[in-house]
Amino acid sequence: MRKKIVAGNWKMNMTFSEAEELLALIASELENKDNLPCEVIACPPSVYLEMATDFAEESNFLIGAQNVSQFEKGAYTGEISAPMLQSIDVDYCIVGHSERRKYFGESDEMLAGKVDKLLDFNIIPIFCCGEQLEDRKNENYFDVVRSQLKNGIFHLNSNEFSNVVVAYEPVWAIGTGKTASPQQAQEMHRFIRNLIADEYGEKTSGGTTILYGGSCNAGNAAELFSQKDVDGGLIGGASLKAGEFLKIVNSF
Ligand code: PEP
Repeated sequence: MRKKIVAGNWKMNMTFSEAEELLALIASELENKDNLPCEVIACPPSVYLEMATDFAEESNFLIGAQNVSQFEKGAYTGEISAPMLQSIDVDYCIVGHSERRKYFGESDEMLAGKVDKLLDFNIIPIFCCGEQLEDRKNENYFDVVRSQLKNGIFHLNSNEFSNVVVAYEPVWAIGTGKTASPQQAQEMHRFIRNLIADEYGEKTSGGTTILYGGSCNAGNAAELFSQKDVDGGLIGGASLKAGEFLKIVNSF
């Protein structure tokens, strides 16, 4: 059985005390809950990661970073490396979020390098893919996603690939309030799973967790998560309020 996951991408939000408060609320709600319906991950800004891993250790959730360098160490001012994340017990890292592709010019080649570095240091990449609105209108959204996966993660061998989580995030749905319909999400998730099967075989494909992201909230999560190939969500805005985030966690 593949893992179900709900991961919160806080993006560039929260002061230190706000982050502490949100982490404390999540931690106290999840503490002593051994039968959660899914794995829960919080991805705060990097300056709060160490505090977050401390909270997580005492509770029942895991911590992800939002970005990592494709380089291991050295003269790369401002960057944060995979061994640094490993040294503070970070479990996951988002790679290839559309905001990083758009605002920070992250190319497929850079993203493939980031994935490699994370795997070298036993951190699970949450690899994001998804089409722009024009791609959907022009009906080439399958080609766009195929190419992102091919260039970002299909260079991995089977063993490496089994440690990757995929997140389908249609760019037109991120932060817009326009969620993909459950049918649209299922159609793309099935397509992604079939691509993985072509590359790595049915067993690996069936074991790969594929998350949906894009204006997912407490009101629409249950229907999205009920789709056969949707294994949970990568949640942006709705992960900033503990109550809403935890309702999403309980939407399976
Ligand atoms: C995201 O940033 O990954 C995301 C899904 O954002 P939102 O839920 O706010 O659309």
